[in-house]
Amino acid sequence: MDQSHRKKSHALVITYPLQGHIIPSVHLATKLASNGFTVTFVNTESIHHQTSKAQNNNNNNNIFAGVRNSGLDINYEIISDGLPISFDRSLNHDQFMASLLHVFSAHVEELVKKLMSSDDPVTCIIADTFFVWPSTISKKFGIPYISFWTEPALVYSLYYHMHLLRLHGHLSNAWIADNREDTITYIPGVPEIEPSDLMSYLQETDTSSVVHQIIFKAFEQAKAADYVICNTVQELEPETILALNANQPFYAIGPIFAPSFRNTSPSTAIATSLWTEFNCKQWLDSKPKGSILYISFGSYAHLSKKDLEEIACGVFKSEVGFIWVLRHDIVSSDEVEPLPKGFMEESKERGIVVPWCCQTEVLAHDSVGGFLTHCGWNSVLESIWSGVPMLCFPLLTDQFTNRKLVVSDWKVGVDLGGKGRADRREVSKKIKCLMGREEFKKEIKVVRRALENATSVNPKGSSVKNF
Ligand code: UDP
Repeated sequence: MDQSHRKKSHALVITYPLQGHIIPSVHLATKLASNGFTVTFVNTESIHHQTSKAQNNNNNNNIFAGVRNSGLDINYEIISDGLPISFDRSLNHDQFMASLLHVFSAHVEELVKKLMSSDDPVTCIIADTFFVWPSTISKKFGIPYISFWTEPALVYSLYYHMHLLRLHGHLSNAWIADNREDTITYIPGVPEIEPSDLMSYLQETDTSSVVHQIIFKAFEQAKAADYVICNTVQELEPETILALNANQPFYAIGPIFAPSFRNTSPSTAIATSLWTEFNCKQWLDSKPKGSILYISFGSYAHLSKKDLEEIACGVFKSEVGFIWVLRHDIVSSDEVEPLPKGFMEESKERGIVVPWCCQTEVLAHDSVGGFLTHCGWNSVLESIWSGVPMLCFPLLTDQFTNRKLVVSDWKVGVDLGGKGRADRREVSKKIKCLMGREEFKKEIKVVRRALENATSVNPKGSSVKNF
């Protein structure tokens, strides 16, 4: 058959409207288009507005404007999540979730309907696993649903097996006072895991919140997916992935990075940041190799004022140079100046505090030697790719489980306690320990090699084959 007349596959990629989900989804879309797919990428009006604003321009550019002349076949659709652009989604989280469930899903369905009757109908829906409707919509239109999981396979497996956790009393019902605290040994493909390593939502006693209901529904939909693709690497989670594959086709295709971070084409910038990036390069250029600690708690989680204070005092006491990304809403109160009094003044020779930066660029810089992180999955993968060991301070959701992988399984980081447990002496001691120790660098090279091998094109690595 003449290949030029063959219809291309057309993927509808629907990202979850949070920074840590948008970044891998955008790069997944680019990767699909680079591999011959037509892609229709769906963004919410509010995220589109924010990324455009972050680029400091009034051109209302779409995220893929940078690849416009690359020949990649990417269409961009903006639809409303049902709330006004000015609505504060992080403050009114439950209302936001409810709107994604009812209004956004209806808009997606209308879009699918429109595309299905066009000259170029959709041939698969690739949607974030946290949505609670993709399987229902894809079944309605008779097209495959591919669930995109942006966290490690271990986290997917624990959510997948929530019924087992509940059965054994490790996932509480409201009427049971305490969860069991013994080691969990019955999850297929997970030899053992401590209850304190479960995702924060599964550690909570009351599981009746909106977030819990969304997780439960999302995993009903995920179980009905035709395929699951996951931003991880087969060689790093072999047993878990093998066990998941006994239930449904589950493919590790990560790490999915910006082509510029991986040094592959297209090298044009793709604008995924929700906030304007402060340029740290010049400051970093002036610092000795491996001397700087990078500190960030991601785009979403909050710190208590007390934890922030303890961390700041520990950083100060350690005498290490630092770049600290401090979002204006990092402490969920009305604090105008969340850092301890005098901290900025007294550390100005050693460090800078910025509202947001290009994290991959900072991590890849020679002068960065450690990362004090909340253990968001993208941050973990980016840190490993850059060969930077981690100090782990998980705050929410999968971050506790990711810490287990980083600290216990791969030994490329140090545990710093996590939410509500910061102690300035520990922080200072562990920063010194992390920044000075060669063994972490050796271990991280091994894990990094797994990432490199998985994404190697020649010979084809596991993620390339799975993709
Ligand atoms: N990030 C960034 N600049 C910053 C802080 C974070 O570009 O100043 C990016 C980071 O590179 C990562 C994402 O934001 O890709 C955060 O995702 P992650 O999964 O680490 O955490 P989340 O924000 O979802 O909690």
